[in-house]
Amino acid sequence: MRRSDRIIDVPLEWFDERSNVLNQKEKQVRRFVTSWLVLGLGLSLSIGGAGSVRGQGTITAVDAAEGVAEKTVESADQLEQLIAKDYDVYLADLFDHFHRNPELSLVEFRTAARMARELRAVGFDVTEGVGGTGIVAMMKNGEGPLVMMRADMDGLPVEEKSGLSNASKATQESPITGNVVPVMHACGHDVHITSMVGTARYMSTHRDIWSGTLMLVVQPAEERVIGARAMKQDRLWQRFGLPDFALAFHVSARDEAGKINVTDGSPYAGADTVDILIHGVGAHGASPHRGKDPIVLGSQIVMALQTLVSRELSPRDPGVVTVGSFHSGTKHNIISDEARLQLTVRNTSLETRKTLLDGIRRIAVNMGRVAGLPEDKLPEVTVSKESVPPTINTASLAQKLRQAWIAEIGEAAVIDVLTKGMGAEDFPVFTSDPDIPAVYWSVGGTPKKDFEAEEAGGPLVPSHHSPLFKIEPELSVKRGVHSTVVALLTLMAAE
Ligand SMILES: [Zn+2]
Ligand SMILES: [Zn+2]
Repeated sequence: MRRSDRIIDVPLEWFDERSNVLNQKEKQVRRFVTSWLVLGLGLSLSIGGAGSVRGQGTITAVDAAEGVAEKTVESADQLEQLIAKDYDVYLADLFDHFHRNPELSLVEFRTAARMARELRAVGFDVTEGVGGTGIVAMMKNGEGPLVMMRADMDGLPVEEKSGLSNASKATQESPITGNVVPVMHACGHDVHITSMVGTARYMSTHRDIWSGTLMLVVQPAEERVIGARAMKQDRLWQRFGLPDFALAFHVSARDEAGKINVTDGSPYAGADTVDILIHGVGAHGASPHRGKDPIVLGSQIVMALQTLVSRELSPRDPGVVTVGSFHSGTKHNIISDEARLQLTVRNTSLETRKTLLDGIRRIAVNMGRVAGLPEDKLPEVTVSKESVPPTINTASLAQKLRQAWIAEIGEAAVIDVLTKGMGAEDFPVFTSDPDIPAVYWSVGGTPKKDFEAEEAGGPLVPSHHSPLFKIEPELSVKRGVHSTVVALLTLMAAE
């Protein structure tokens, strides 16, 4: 007798009473649900009453390998209900744990260890310490594409003031300053990792309905846009294979909870950090003809840079050149011998990026010539290695996933709204050089009533990185799992 047949005798009625899931007649659906139940039962036994454990971080991941389902196909509604069930019995507590225990970029040690344990428990082949605290979890499941799903896991040096009962009280020594600072999941990366565990639990118990290799990447230090590069430099593709497709999502406080926002264009900007060192010739402030004033030259450069976006980009092509810092001089009556400018430069296409970076160089160097500086003293322009390219969705793949989400989750849940900001992400470091077809979507995380209250003159919906940042975890984690599972099954459906 198969395990699933044995178990079906007892708990099925129990499950029947509590859920609509089993109002189905097909035997294969019953088998599928039973196998999911094996997983669910094992978990509820191990956590022994969610209320008592919530928030203490003591939930024990269990080996779910025995829960592998028979060949089954379930309806869209059933998939949604299964995810909801798993949220109730497992993912809610896991989210709570992650939310209370955030860690800073590059020092996500306990988060990484917990993710490794969770993914190993459901049968993934887990490698830790990839590019620092990064994790790669592989599940080979027959012929088919290699599909990568990424979740970032770092928190921020922010003191949580959300007023939530599970608000973070965590502190940690900053690897940047050495000071002990408060830490908060103020960008919602706890939603990403919790959803990844939910996805892993579903995919591992439904290996009969997909074929291929699933690569789950848990990335450190997204907030400093250095984690993806660190993992890649740790020979990610050489060690684990070059993905055929790469996926990621971000929970979004700007979108209504549960909405899937996918665009064919660029959901996140490319960001470059640029330094300009301007050499001058120092002199007495009363004798400017004896020097070369780098403050005057720097000011001319700052003003000339404003023409890049306004005169060289098409009005329909977004870009930003911001001089965020201008330092020079020590005293009123001394002409300084150097000035330093610090810029952030944003774009949504590689062509725009080239126009802006080439333009900055051209303007800085030639303004130096205008000022009469010799060729070996012209301004020096340096583009930091910490730059990230724009996140650009592969249009055909975005369209394919959008159709799948509309078919499986419903038209009302899928939107296509381009962001107005020029925020950046380091996910495209994974998907460029070499190029990998990729889609990055967002999952709404703010309850509709909060937007309605804001519109009626009530409190503003807090933005990401705010101490008031607050995500509705249930809707966003469930939709995070749901959208990811549908995307993976679209790309890896069994023959
Ligand atoms: Zn962030
Ligand atoms: Zn983020």
